[in-house]
Amino acid sequence: MTALAPTPAPVADRTDLPVVVVGAGPVGLITALGLVHHGVPVVVLEEDERLSLDTKAGTVLTRTLEVLDRYDAAAPVLAASLRIDEIGEIDRPTGKSGMSVRTDVLAEDTRFPFVVNIPQNSLEGVLSGILTERAPQVLQMRHRVTGFVQHTDHVTLTVDTPDGERTVDARYVLGCDGGRSALRTGLGIEVEGKTLEERYMLVDLEVDLDVDNPRDYPYLAYFADPHEWMILVRQPHCWRFLFPLKPGAPEPGIEELRDKALHFIGDVDDVRVLGSNIYTVHQRVADRWVDGRVMLMGDAAHLITPMWALGLNTGVLDASNLPWRLAWVLRGWGSPAMLAAYEGEQSSVAVKGSGQMAEAAREAMGAGGGPAGALDQADWGWAMTRTLLGIRLDVDGTGEWTMVQTGDGPGTVRPGDRVPDLPVFDAGGCRTHLHELVRDTFVALHFADARRRPAIPEDELPGLRHVVVSRWDAPHDSGLRDRALFDPGDRVRRRLGLEEDAVVLLRPDAHVAAVLPWPSTGLTAADVYRRITHPDTAQEV
Ligand SMILES: Cc1cc2nc3c(=O)[nH]c(=O)nc-3n(C[C@H](O)[C@H](O)[C@H](O)COP(=O)(O)OP(=O)(O)OC[C@H]3O[C@@H](n4cnc5c(N)ncnc54)[C@H](O)[C@@H]3O)c2cc1C
Repeated sequence: MTALAPTPAPVADRTDLPVVVVGAGPVGLITALGLVHHGVPVVVLEEDERLSLDTKAGTVLTRTLEVLDRYDAAAPVLAASLRIDEIGEIDRPTGKSGMSVRTDVLAEDTRFPFVVNIPQNSLEGVLSGILTERAPQVLQMRHRVTGFVQHTDHVTLTVDTPDGERTVDARYVLGCDGGRSALRTGLGIEVEGKTLEERYMLVDLEVDLDVDNPRDYPYLAYFADPHEWMILVRQPHCWRFLFPLKPGAPEPGIEELRDKALHFIGDVDDVRVLGSNIYTVHQRVADRWVDGRVMLMGDAAHLITPMWALGLNTGVLDASNLPWRLAWVLRGWGSPAMLAAYEGEQSSVAVKGSGQMAEAAREAMGAGGGPAGALDQADWGWAMTRTLLGIRLDVDGTGEWTMVQTGDGPGTVRPGDRVPDLPVFDAGGCRTHLHELVRDTFVALHFADARRRPAIPEDELPGLRHVVVSRWDAPHDSGLRDRALFDPGDRVRRRLGLEEDAVVLLRPDAHVAAVLPWPSTGLTAADVYRRITHPDTAQEV
């Protein structure tokens, strides 16, 4: 792919141009749904004639379900999936269960206390269906991006189409074009990391292990073994077996793969191989993710070993972070400088966090033991970590980020945490959840006694709302009735660990931007909001 030198800005106003997503893999499709959700004009260019039929990712973690829910896409994905409340960790030689992950311990934290199995090709079909229904012209198949030129205020892409070559102008270009990203190469961005010596091989079998040959395997189970570990995934319509292929070992054919799986299952009738895949595993990361108006996302930015389902699901974290930022910039609510934090926040978490977790998992599987060291968890922390709900982003540049939660329950909420999705009640009596409140806005939650009429700020800044959260329902003559949320029993406040009155500023991606004293003693929620949306011009307070 050619990336030509920038040219001076043309005279025409380019504000009507769409954001162009290159690549209709899961990350490109979810990003496009996010942009549509925020009302951003978007076009998705995909080189292939049809979406991938390859047997790839098979498990969608809870944090991904929450992102899909924010973009109004969770229900159709759930309808096509198999839900799981326990991720099995089993020592293969002894058959003993280790630290299985029980997701029901997360019932207080999320509306989705489970993970799901869905083959990546089904997932992509569902996502593209929703996108096409919501924005019929957005997805353009057989459109291969072959080059681009960055201008001051837009990017011009060269695209191979069934009708020949044409150019497409974009406000921003999101490179969701996978591990071999040509956009990344065009920008001269290097990938650093390693390729594992062992490869992975998987086989999907159609076999009845429920009635004809009943087996009590967990729907998702990691069988650790020093000689040959295995991952078993019950897909909605089949069973998947995944094994390592030793360095230098010859590639097994389909029959051999099937026999390996049958060796594990034992004697059964009527087995059909639906698909198989042998693939090389990388741990590689782009050294830059943002260049002018082009940004890398998903596998284009980071190839992570698929262990613990961290490949696709880590890419979805990118798709959670960038769409709202672009929406704020394109609405004029933020300056383009706020886009830089996308790389700052995601690169540490996605690359070091997911990468380290995947490596630790891989080693633990081979060693035949449970996960070691920092990843040794109590039930709640373990479940938070494995579902990616435990993620804390470095939202304030302090270097405080993590993928790992510890302990039996939440501590005091901190900047960067994904806020638990707790219920509150509005003036009309309707139950809503914290994540639903922030779907397209920042919200400053003022935890204070509604009877005392706390003087919360007016909603003056676009994209920022202020509300009171109180166990005292706001009296009808308080003037706060429509700006207050009822929190029976102080449940939200207690879950967030707030002893004193406080303001918790939430971002549209349900991460905590700040925890501040209330009444304000210095820095206010509006100050923090300005810092996030205008990092180049916001005054130091
Ligand atoms: C066998 C296997 C098993 C896996 N299992 C898991 C798992 O269980 N859990 C998990 O989380 N992850 C898993 N992964 C990883 C997961 O599949 C990837 O992380 C995921 O596909 C990345 O999505 P993406 O959208 O970033 O890129 P991709 O899925 O690679 O999509 C990129 C898209 O861009 C298109 N494209 C490329 N170049 C251009 C161009 N120039 N113009 C237009 N379009 C272009 C491609 O055709 C493609 O459709 C697995 C991977 C493999 C191979």
